[in-house]
Amino acid sequence: MTEYTADVVIVGAGGAGMRAAISAREAGADVLVIEKGTAGESGCTKNSASDWMAFGAAFGHADPADSPHEHWIDILIKGALVAQPELARRIAYEAPHRLLDLERWGASFDKKDGEFVQILSDGARFPRACGKGAETGSEIMRALKTRAEEVGVRILERVMAADLLLSDNRVAGLWGIGLEDGKLIGVIAPAVIVATGGAGALYSLNVFPDGMTGDGVAMAYRAGARLVNMEFIQIGPCIVHPVKFALSGVFWRMKPRLINGDGREFLRRRVPPDINLEEALRLKGVSFPFSVRNDSMYVDVAVFEEITSGVPGPHGGVFLDITHNSKADIETKARVPFEHLLAQGVDIRKEAVEFAPCIQHFNGGILIKPDASTDVPGLFACGEAAGGQHGADRPGGNALADSQVYGAVAGAEAARYARSFQKRSCPVGALVERSIRAIQSIPSPSGCDWTGLLERVQSQMWRQVSVIRTEKGLSEAASCLQIAMGQLANARPSEMRTYLELRNLLQVGQAVVTAARLRAESRGTHYRADYPRRDDGNWVKQITLKYTGRTPDTETTRVEIPPEVAEGLRTGVLRMD
Ligand SMILES: Cc1cc2nc3c(=O)[nH]c(=O)nc-3n(C[C@H](O)[C@H](O)[C@H](O)COP(=O)(O)OP(=O)(O)OC[C@H]3O[C@@H](n4cnc5c(N)ncnc54)[C@H](O)[C@@H]3O)c2cc1C
Repeated sequence: MTEYTADVVIVGAGGAGMRAAISAREAGADVLVIEKGTAGESGCTKNSASDWMAFGAAFGHADPADSPHEHWIDILIKGALVAQPELARRIAYEAPHRLLDLERWGASFDKKDGEFVQILSDGARFPRACGKGAETGSEIMRALKTRAEEVGVRILERVMAADLLLSDNRVAGLWGIGLEDGKLIGVIAPAVIVATGGAGALYSLNVFPDGMTGDGVAMAYRAGARLVNMEFIQIGPCIVHPVKFALSGVFWRMKPRLINGDGREFLRRRVPPDINLEEALRLKGVSFPFSVRNDSMYVDVAVFEEITSGVPGPHGGVFLDITHNSKADIETKARVPFEHLLAQGVDIRKEAVEFAPCIQHFNGGILIKPDASTDVPGLFACGEAAGGQHGADRPGGNALADSQVYGAVAGAEAARYARSFQKRSCPVGALVERSIRAIQSIPSPSGCDWTGLLERVQSQMWRQVSVIRTEKGLSEAASCLQIAMGQLANARPSEMRTYLELRNLLQVGQAVVTAARLRAESRGTHYRADYPRRDDGNWVKQITLKYTGRTPDTETTRVEIPPEVAEGLRTGVLRMD
């Protein structure tokens, strides 16, 4: 085993992890980043397959009436009142500073006359989204990587963190495996920051890059950190073949024809007769993720039902066709996606695209406090792996803002924690040995179909735990996960990476399903067809989950609504839809 030491070790070199590394290093800590793929290249920040990637920051350049306060209100309202107000406040007030950091380190965002070009994104009342078209994520990662090199961040690539090491109920470091050579590594560090992003691979249809298996969330959960808001997942219409690509509002504004696998239009037939279809499509154009907050939900539900109980296309989607628009209109009005897709061999002037509701972002994750610390001393979390800062839905652009705000907070706080922590020598070998012995004691017989098992879980999660949820479907998904967990407890894949990823996905899946079953109402991205109404009397609450090794322990905690938000909703100045 190769051993390393650091003051702060960070798992994940995406947007949040790299931002955390810079902050921790600037605060004087010796920092080591562990990355499963390639720093600056892996993860969602770099690989968000969409035509416009938004970073929400209330500069007020497009509308001087905007402010961090208004941004904060939007997070709470679009979050359907279950974002933690103090966590959301930091995103709103600190996002502009973090965007300026990125610009200072070389990222370029669209500007006009020295001011940021800011557009209106889903769930925002003011034009607030900054960006650089499809290149926003690349710009961010390029700047972060340059800065991380300047300040001397150490990075280990192609190493997968496997589990945290604990000593005296505190974090003592972590162990992992080299993905090239299979060798073990052990890191001794008083502070660990989890920045591993979301668990897109839990679902058969997702728009995440490969390898996003919820590792950090599961590691923290096993170590005793609570998870929160796990039932809230952003699911949006995305091309499923031949490329993964999120369908932005422009596609819906071009009056698309939605066609099933038999070549027949189905929308009118599937949408309830009392719903104004034109209005639902208009709303879909400004509401990327599925949400019960407005009638755009009927479009997503119709698509989901056509796929699950109608006639799907060959890749599990249905078709969106805008070819009845003139070529000139497509080339100009849909210029960015048109050019992007054409470069990948898809000509939307001539052909329909196969799409489906795909998992795009996890709103919940490891429960953090405003200083990004968790229930476990020495453990911090940020970015998509963290939870509580978003609610049942989130304004477009808030995940990137979150990654930079809480990345910076986590780095600075972890460095401070590490400084105050008395350095001790730690028996890393013994700790790793104990953690790995339990895994090695599981037999690894040949002939088990682990790929088949994973595919069954992914398909079950998409069918029962995505757009439409019911007690019946959720209990079937829970049984499927339970059976898979039982199999994995008695036999394991011979390849360690496969075992670790499968275990992580099953544990995260169990947390999602448990929370979704408990929340007997519909709110934001969580639609229970058997409880279709939002129930503010009982459910302005966050669900937290604690790992037990069996069904998680759950707790519900009421979220205190700030008086100005409650008053705004009472007088109608603020509206939930
Ligand atoms: C198609 C699409 C479009 C999006 N559009 C927007 C948008 O317009 N605006 C917005 O705000 N958000 C958007 N998002 C969401 C946003 O991109 C993500 O939430 C955000 O980038 C997450 O940043 P992160 O640093 O937390 O995680 P990531 O950038 O995903 O990085 C996580 C890193 O952790 C590494 N890792 C994982 N497990 C391990 C392990 N065990 N050991 C070591 N390393 C590990 C991964 O390889 C990866 O590099 C979009 C997402 C998608 C998929």
